[in-house]
Parts: sequence; structure tokens; C-alpha cells
Amino acid sequence: MLKGKKVLITGGSRGIGAAIVRQAMTEGADVAFTYIRSADEARSLALGLQAQYPQQRCLAFECDAADVRAMEATIKQVIAEFGAVDGLVNNAGITRDVVLARMSREQWDSVINTNLGSMFNSTKPLILQMVKQRGGAIVNISSVAALYGNNGQTNYSAAKAGIIGFSKSLSAEVAPQNIRVNVVAPGYIKTDMMGMLDEDTLSYIKSRISMRRLGVVEDIAPLVCFLLSESASYITGQVFQVDGGITL
Ligand code: NAP
Repeated sequence: MLKGKKVLITGGSRGIGAAIVRQAMTEGADVAFTYIRSADEARSLALGLQAQYPQQRCLAFECDAADVRAMEATIKQVIAEFGAVDGLVNNAGITRDVVLARMSREQWDSVINTNLGSMFNSTKPLILQMVKQRGGAIVNISSVAALYGNNGQTNYSAAKAGIIGFSKSLSAEVAPQNIRVNVVAPGYIKTDMMGMLDEDTLSYIKSRISMRRLGVVEDIAPLVCFLLSESASYITGQVFQVDGGITL
């Protein structure tokens, strides 16, 4: 579905982002992705996929999505390598869970800057290029925490809710230029991000999910790639929950 497309994914070294990198390569795209700490994972993912798909390109860039100048510089490099970017997935995210009464300003700022600030940092430099080429697709990764809140996640829920407002406004701004902006809001997906929860908490979470299981990264990646593809050419400004029926 993505043959010939050039896609940039933030936070592609692990978890959901890495699954989107793999899926986009499987579907024929050239893929650039960023990471911040996991250099070994990023290198082996890029090299492995490059070997598996020798006709395509898979490039990893160390870049803090919360750093506006670093992101601008990386996007310049990606455009120099690929000539253009057709699809952007804003996936990089972190949690610093703690009740507000105990939350430090650093825990607030880091979550807001990484999850929400990064939307500006990566989208702003690319949007003019997409306008010039009269087309593009952006998928932003939010969370069900944006829609329903979550104990201990005021910082994260605020950032992820901000992503939805950002995406709806941007989708209205750029729809006339054939640029689509959509949001995927995962429920509880088995990744390192969930690794910090103890067994009791995990059992409680599973009991609240209608399908009685956590999601896996492969539950998210195909939808993201569909939204990047021409098959989704009349879909914009939408929020897609992928959560095993957590709210049913
Ligand atoms: P994860 O396993 O912790 O992976 C996070 C990815 O983001 C890693 O590749 C990490 O890079 C990258 N990253 C973090 N901070 C970054 C920064 N400042 N600059 C660039 N890259 C950065 O998390 P995940 O579960 O896959 O989550 C991916 C996205 O889905 C996040 O936006 C998260 O909020 C969202 N989400 C996850 C769940 C869930 O249940 N897992 C649910 C709802 C939403 P390094 O490897 O270099 O650290």
C-alpha cells in the first residue's frame, strides 16, 4: 500500500514505532525513523530491514523529538536523502506517571514537551514541503488516556488530548492542499512503556478490557500504514481508538 512513499516516523527504535517501521517497509515505503537512547536497537532494526528489502531504504537518525532545532536538522537530512516526505508518523512518547500532588515541574514539562511539543517540532518543518507537493499524510499517536483520563497521568493525558486538538485544527488547515491528518489512540499495548506495571495492576487492566487482553504492536501498525496510504484518501481529522473495547 505504500510503494514508493517516503515516510518519517519519530520514536521508531522500539515498541509501536518499531512495528510501524517494519510494517511500512513491508508495504514498500522508504522509511526514516528517529530514536533518542536505543542506538543499538535502532541500528539493528535499520540494518535488518535494509537487508530484507534491498530495493528500499531504511535510515535511523538519533534525534530528540522534543528539541526543535535537532528535529529541523534531521528533517533536512531526511529530505536530502529521500527528496521528499509523503508520510509523517508522530509516535515518540514517554510517561512519567505520578499523581499531580506529587508531580514535579520536570515530570510535567518532559511529558508535555516530548509528547505534545514534538508535534510542532516535526510537523511545522514538513508541512510547507507537503503543501508545495500538494499532498501528504500525517498520523499522530495519542492514547485513550486523552479521552477518558487515567489516575497518575495528568501530564500524559493533557499532552495526548492536546495532540487530538492539534490534529483536528491542522486537518482543517491543510485539507484543501490534499494533506490528511489523523490520530490513532491506542489502549493498553504490550511494550516497554507497559513494562513498569506490576502483575496486579496488569490483571486489573485486563479485567477492564472487553477483549480481556492487552494489545500488541501489530494491532496498531497496519492501521497507521492504512491511514498513510492512498486507500485512506478521503479520511481526515479523525481519531481511531484501538483498545480491545476498553470502554464498552
Ligand atoms: P516505548 O516502547 O517506550 O517506545 C517509545 C519510543 O519513542 C522509542 O523508540 C523511544 O526511543 C522513542 N522516544 C521516546 N522519547 C523520545 C524523544 N524525545 N525523541 C525521539 N524518540 C523518543 O513506547 P510505546 O509503547 O511504543 O509508545 C509509542 C507511542 O504510543 C507513544 O506516543 C505512546 O504514548 C503511545 N501509546 C502507547 C500505549 C501503550 O500501551 N504502549 C498506549 C497508548 C499510547 P528510544 O528507544 O531511543 O528511547
